[in-house]
Amino acid sequence: MIKIDLSGKRYLVMGVANKRSLGWAIAEQLRDAGAELAFTYQAERLRTELEKLTADMPGTLLFQCDVTDEEELGAAFSALESSWGVLDGIVHAIAFAPRAAMEGRYLDTTRDDWLTALEISAYSLVSVARKAEPLLTDQAGIVTLSYYAAEKVVPKYNVMAIAKSALEASVRYLAYELGSKGVRVNAVSAGPVRTVAARSIPGFVKLFNRFAEVAPLGRNITHEEVGQLGLFLLSPMSTGITGEVVYVDAGFHTMGMELPSE
Ligand code: NAD
Repeated sequence: MIKIDLSGKRYLVMGVANKRSLGWAIAEQLRDAGAELAFTYQAERLRTELEKLTADMPGTLLFQCDVTDEEELGAAFSALESSWGVLDGIVHAIAFAPRAAMEGRYLDTTRDDWLTALEISAYSLVSVARKAEPLLTDQAGIVTLSYYAAEKVVPKYNVMAIAKSALEASVRYLAYELGSKGVRVNAVSAGPVRTVAARSIPGFVKLFNRFAEVAPLGRNITHEEVGQLGLFLLSPMSTGITGEVVYVDAGFHTMGMELPSE
């Protein structure tokens, strides 16, 4: 097995709520590759969880940052600049849509719910990249998390699907604009994984089970598999890849149709 060595490198991970978070899955791989890590958490109530998760990682930095709060965002990056001065990469694992917007019809999405979902789940990547730009080293990487519904209809995903489409388009524009600095921007498009955010999707369990029946590999994916792809995209193993949406979904997105079982 090829070992990726990120010792001496520093990454910011945004969006870890608990040990099942996909942000944590990537953070574990970065940690195991020797990287130093900083985390932001949305609100004070999540700090204790992060303190527990990072208890055996001395030197880890923790900052509060609700991405809708420009002051908190600015303060987090100022603190990073004072502590580290540079950044080798960012994991953006943040999304939110009001539950009501995912229960009904997409047609009935309110303006407020639409804007909230897009602001938190897509615009935040742009504001984070802008704040990070002066700190990013010339081989730095940014990785965000997306889902297949950005591309094809997945019932009930509703406004979150539109947010993921905007997120994936943002990945391409950010990759274009930051490319001259050598900075790469990519999205990991993960199949369904049991997390807090996933539980808020109506019918998630049905979707999760059906996914395994359709996917060519005949199973769901693991947290570890998402973490490994995140590590690859942030490492020198992927220096030629940017502006890309890479699937880790047991092949689900390659299927056009299924035959009825005999
Ligand atoms: P999660 O609930 O563990 O993580 C979501 C994170 O977003 C939480 O840490 C939450 O605090 C943070 N967040 C929400 N609003 C925020 C705000 N205003 N400011 C700062 N942080 C905020 O769930 P997850 O499934 O690990 O989600 C991480 C990413 O992975 C999301 O973008 C999600 O859409 C994506 N994703 C998840 C799946 C899945 O099946 N779990 C599949 C594909 C993509």
